[in-house]
Amino acid sequence: MPTVLIVGKSNVGKSTLFNKLIGKRKSIVDDKEGVTRDAVSDRVSYFGKVFEIVDTCGIFEIPEDLITQKTKENTISMLKEADAAVFIVDGRKGITSEDEHLAELLRKSGIEIIFVANKAENERKYQEVLPDLYKLGFGDPIPVSAEQGKNIDILIEKIIEILENKGYDLERTVEEKEIIRVAIVGRPNAGKSSLFNAILRSERSLVTPIPGTTRDAIDELVTIKDKKYLFVDTAGFKRKSKTEYKSLDMYSTVRSIKAIEMCDVAVIVIDALEGITKQDQKIAGIAENRGKATVIVYNKWDLVSHARERVDEYMNMFYEKLYFVNYSPVIFTSAVKSSGISKLINAINDAYNALKHRVSTSAVNAVVQRMMMFTPPPRGLKIFYGTQVDIRPPTFLFFTNGRKVPEHYQNLIRRTIRENIYSFTGAPIFLKFKSHH
Ligand code: GDP
Repeated sequence: MPTVLIVGKSNVGKSTLFNKLIGKRKSIVDDKEGVTRDAVSDRVSYFGKVFEIVDTCGIFEIPEDLITQKTKENTISMLKEADAAVFIVDGRKGITSEDEHLAELLRKSGIEIIFVANKAENERKYQEVLPDLYKLGFGDPIPVSAEQGKNIDILIEKIIEILENKGYDLERTVEEKEIIRVAIVGRPNAGKSSLFNAILRSERSLVTPIPGTTRDAIDELVTIKDKKYLFVDTAGFKRKSKTEYKSLDMYSTVRSIKAIEMCDVAVIVIDALEGITKQDQKIAGIAENRGKATVIVYNKWDLVSHARERVDEYMNMFYEKLYFVNYSPVIFTSAVKSSGISKLINAINDAYNALKHRVSTSAVNAVVQRMMMFTPPPRGLKIFYGTQVDIRPPTFLFFTNGRKVPEHYQNLIRRTIRENIYSFTGAPIFLKFKSHH
């Protein structure tokens, strides 16, 4: 994916512009706790065209006497790898020696520059500093206001033009990005490989060779009804001989964790004859913890006698033993009879969609305010307002008076969101709290 850097001296509005470009709320940037400010790199999506934008943060802001050889090397390699750089200057105050220093660095790197004057809300002021800006030798800047969102579309269109001139097909990158990464995990012998094979046999499914990999590829790219899925770590269960079934639970857990880390959706396969084991609980817990979507599969359903009458029993087992992922869809399959497979694929799709679903801030506040009227927070705690700040997994930030929000009340908030706004079926909901002064 083509990459564009945001470069500029401190306080020139890099983070604000970054957030405007990726379409996120500015409140996240203002978080001083340092944890929430995780996004230094994100996708800009504009009418189906996509590129990667990177906020270079402080890397160009370090005072010259503190620049080590290492940071210098980092900077240069960053510039070399990127396709273009948005060079921001101050459209209100004009340039300083710092800008000149950066301009020189950029010119030396040979990277393509998109010259931008930020904070250009005031036309008269901007005209005053403009001659100063020309001095940098990058020609006419694009005047923008990151704060007010002014001319951001013009800037994006300019970036797209430059990247397309370089030969990038920005629409294709979208398609490539829309690969649903699936991990099929569970205990040895639960039927993971049989299920995978059943999926491959299913309607309109097609294995696409991944360029640069051998036949023994670890991951398999599969197209089903025009959707692409990357099944991660299928090497663990493909073409397996009978003797290998005896592999230790311990080993398979380690392998499962790795696969879960790589995936969007974890399909947790349970042998219906054995029921939900400790290891299944552990794996589901890991998936939830890492913010992955989960789909629960009771496999070997064909071997369960009077299966039809026992659905409730199995659902109760699920609610009892996997209560912490009770938002997951539960599917009954027979890998050998190929039953339940299309339901499973639908569940994977739904869970993936839930993982990247966004709900509106007004809806969040409406339902949470109403919830608090019926069930007020514990004594001393105040919750002012909240908003969804992220996806994959859906993450909500609530501003409070700083008191701890007990687990049961957090669960109530999650349940309220699921029941009243969107079910987020298959996806965990993460909550963050921040004190509001
Ligand atoms: P893995 O270790 O989880 O990959 O499990 P396998 O897919 O290798 O399956 C283990 C054994 O269970 C094999 O003998 C399969 O034929 C059998 N098996 C898997 N799924 C089903 C199913 O849905 N029904 C029945 N009857 N047998 C199954």
